[in-house]
Amino acid sequence: MGTPTLERICVFAGSNPGSRPHYVQAARAVGRRLAQQGIGMVYGGGAVGLMGAAADAALEAGGEVVGVIPGALFRREIAHQGVTELRVVQSMHERKATMAELADGFVALPGGLGTYEELLEILTWAQLGVHDKPVGALDVAGYFDPLVDLFRHSVDQGFIRPQHADLLMVDASIEALLDRFAAYEPPRVAKWLDLEGT
Ligand code: AMP
Repeated sequence: MGTPTLERICVFAGSNPGSRPHYVQAARAVGRRLAQQGIGMVYGGGAVGLMGAAADAALEAGGEVVGVIPGALFRREIAHQGVTELRVVQSMHERKATMAELADGFVALPGGLGTYEELLEILTWAQLGVHDKPVGALDVAGYFDPLVDLFRHSVDQGFIRPQHADLLMVDASIEALLDRFAAYEPPRVAKWLDLEGT
């Protein structure tokens, strides 16, 4: 499998700014970095929280930002009005499928239930071999340490295979994550295809 080209990255991020200034700073740094590297940003289309901060910074730096937002959220005027393209879709499910299709990789920034749900679903799809795109978490101020511990615990207890836990790349630097994405080789076996193998 060849080295993937990173044309667009999907960003999952909190709709809240978080309680420490590091989070917004990091979200802005991600948006800026994507724009500087000529990588488009795909995201949930909101103007608020870390998601809005990343989108604003990408736009300010001249980047392309595609928001994918369900009609219900759009009507509540939560949508970012300044993005390059805003795709209004029917449902949360369609939104996630569209974001997954448009992107060549996924980065989770700190966030809450929505962010966890998006991150875990895209990892599950990777585990099942539905896609072979890189998935990372930006570990701002150690935010994802408990999640990494939880994954380790699940590996220890026999619920996640080590190679599937390793699908999540965790790094404190967006530059390092993007380098790892560019060099990413997906594991050859999907969850249900290698039952004989282990
Ligand atoms: P949360 O982590 O619970 O704040 O949810 C953030 C994630 O869910 C984002 O990556 C979005 O895709 C989606 N989301 C949640 N709230 C909104 C919103 N107000 N506008 C757009 N997307 C949202």
